[in-house]
Amino acid sequence: MSATNGNVNGASANGAGHNTNIDENIENVIIIGSGPAGFTAGLYTARANLKPLLITGNEYGGQVSITYDIENYPGFPESLSGPDLVEKFKAQAEKFGTRVEFDYVNEIVTDRHPFLVRTEGGQEYATQSIILATGARPKYLEIPGEREMAGKGVSYCATCDGFFFRGKDVLVIGGGDSACEEALFLTRFASRVRMLHRRDSFRASKILQERVFSEPKIEVVWNTVLTEIVGENGNVNSVKTQNTVTGEAGELITDGVFIFVGHLPNNQLLQGKFELDEDGHLITDRKMRTNIPGIFAGGEIMDKVFKQVATSVGQGCAAAMQATKFMEEIHAGLQVDVTQDPREFERPLAKVYA
Ligand code: NAP
Repeated sequence: MSATNGNVNGASANGAGHNTNIDENIENVIIIGSGPAGFTAGLYTARANLKPLLITGNEYGGQVSITYDIENYPGFPESLSGPDLVEKFKAQAEKFGTRVEFDYVNEIVTDRHPFLVRTEGGQEYATQSIILATGARPKYLEIPGEREMAGKGVSYCATCDGFFFRGKDVLVIGGGDSACEEALFLTRFASRVRMLHRRDSFRASKILQERVFSEPKIEVVWNTVLTEIVGENGNVNSVKTQNTVTGEAGELITDGVFIFVGHLPNNQLLQGKFELDEDGHLITDRKMRTNIPGIFAGGEIMDKVFKQVATSVGQGCAAAMQATKFMEEIHAGLQVDVTQDPREFERPLAKVYA
């Protein structure tokens, strides 16, 4: 390896077993992210004998790790907790040789091949291929009082903070699956849960809606948005509201505000290097290729539609299979031109049948 500064780590330093690397100082594949897509990519590339290195990021396990109960991941009919599922993913990936580093990638250099991956922990790795599985994070309302009261009555994780609201009054903001699930979870602790939604119907799945409507502790306040969160002595004590139909302003006294209004892709690393859509998701083709050859993606960083543990697992698997194929081509002598966008897009069906 040349043309790198400082400490370049290679697979040979940490890897075990048979060496499949072309150059011992260059990783075959680095996976960035430790959610369902990342660990599945680890499992598949490890089983392809690529000795993957998975760098977890700061949110180990991703959004699953803050989910209390997972009922819709196949194979677990009794359901299991998010952290338990993450540990199972990790154990299975490590069993076949995935190396897991608890570090945060703060830069990837994509204008040369092999690529470089630099971390907050001061490591620099050269790698033939990358799988981006950086996931998504909760969206903020961006209203006065929200940031100031975060952790002091404003929360984005009922699983983490619900316990502190035993016997209290809480508001849940949003009308999707997350808001419904988390409102139901909060009924274990809170004396009253009011769900505020900006429209007059939920977008959540029917099964969750039915559970919400039949839960006596939950009241739904339709056509209402928050305009401000008001705190006193370091605690939330009320919110200001607006009716989205009449425009009427109001106030609700409460102890806590749980916000579940969607997610934003974790694309801080990717801006300026990768093609992103208008919401900031990576644009991949059906073969999980990004616009840079050798860099693949799976999970919520590229999926704005499904966002399920099961779909992220599938996308992580597909990205890993493509990375494996790419590595076969590298072994066969492929010279990578990082300026050549490898993606192929099919014509939209509407055009085919027009
Ligand atoms: P979501 O489906 O995007 O829902 C976000 C909700 O927040 C919507 O009801 C939206 O209102 C509302 N909202 C957005 N911006 C707002 C704002 N500025 N002020 C007030 N309300 C606002 O997000 P999600 O519930 O986090 O779910 C994300 C994805 O994960 C979905 O695909 C979901 O199916 C999936 N998920 C699945 C499960 C499960 O299967 N058990 C659990 C959690 C999440 P509108 O409806 O008016 O747009």
